[in-house]
Amino acid sequence: MNRVCLHPADIEKINEIMRAIRDKGNTVLIVEHDPSVIKIADYIVDIGPGAGKNGGNITFTGTYDDLLTSDTATGQALRREHHLKSAVKQPDHFIQLEHITKNNLHDVSVDIPQHVLSVVTGVAGSGKSSLIRAGFEHRDDTIFIDQKPIHASSRSNLLTYMNIFDDVRSFYSKETGMKKSMFSYNSEGACPNCHGKGYIKVELAFMPSFSQICEVCHGTRYKPEVLAAKVSGYSIADVLALTVDEAVHFFQHDDHITHHLQTIASTGLGYMTLGQSLDTLSGGEIQRAKLSRYLTDQVTDHIFIFDEPTTRLHEDDVPTLLKRFEQLIDENNTVILIEHNLTMMTYADWIIDVGPGAGMRGGRILYSGPPKGLLGVESSVTARHLKGYVMP
Ligand SMILES: [Zn+2]
Repeated sequence: MNRVCLHPADIEKINEIMRAIRDKGNTVLIVEHDPSVIKIADYIVDIGPGAGKNGGNITFTGTYDDLLTSDTATGQALRREHHLKSAVKQPDHFIQLEHITKNNLHDVSVDIPQHVLSVVTGVAGSGKSSLIRAGFEHRDDTIFIDQKPIHASSRSNLLTYMNIFDDVRSFYSKETGMKKSMFSYNSEGACPNCHGKGYIKVELAFMPSFSQICEVCHGTRYKPEVLAAKVSGYSIADVLALTVDEAVHFFQHDDHITHHLQTIASTGLGYMTLGQSLDTLSGGEIQRAKLSRYLTDQVTDHIFIFDEPTTRLHEDDVPTLLKRFEQLIDENNTVILIEHNLTMMTYADWIIDVGPGAGMRGGRILYSGPPKGLLGVESSVTARHLKGYVMP
């Protein structure tokens, strides 16, 4: 089973259920990277070391105690001691959200600080997302970076999304002397058999249709003469199969392309391949791809709102993502995260806790202020879990 987006309090409840199922003589298999879930396992299989092309190997098998002393990225992340941010940024201005009534929120008002990192916490269904949605949806200086799919077809990839596929085609045209449009699988360069799709859809009567790799271009999408045009031994199709990290090295003499690739890598997506279709991205990957685009555009004076940015992000990549949030704040933006992840909370300048429970039992602001103050709020479930997570 696989679960995402849960408050530590909710995870605790599910953990109890998992144990009960096991104790009845069943086998329970959980795919997870939440530390509090890993902790209850009798046996752990760690796969890595990286993601995508850099992963796929079994890096550890054994008990939780053994994992803690192992050299794997998971082991190292679990060993790390957590502290609340010692020098929080003092907010200079506040955005006043007033008299918000929506779902379980009734006439709620709260001040949100500008130009700092705020984390909005609370159990699932507490009203935290409704509060931020209702409070900011009418402002045109607000950018919601959610996990909704990017409107994309199987013909768009990471390069088209970052607006640098054109630069890559120009690069290939310049280096090989071949016409630029030949390096597009959406026009002249397209394999005539699959029309640049790389696969053929097979329709069968009375049966669901299925896709088959194109036998002419072998999934590369290009005509043979395009594939024969190489730069440092790489065809355009070879380059599309490189990961972002590998491509940074390949394009090292082109500042414009490398800048964009480095930005993608800096959001934790360095393992993705350049040619990966956007319709295959997970929610968390979509969110980080969207963030990459804003980072390269150097947006200033905006409010960025992220809904669960750590979804499917390895504990080890949290600091990487945090640096990007700091970058946005340095560029005079405001960053608000709706988040359950305890590590993310430790980096907050300001925490707004909504609760205490879900639905009818939620919808109240339990706390708004620097993180330290939250620890003393007895009615807050978040406070209880955070207290157990950070060093005193
Ligand atoms: Zn083909």
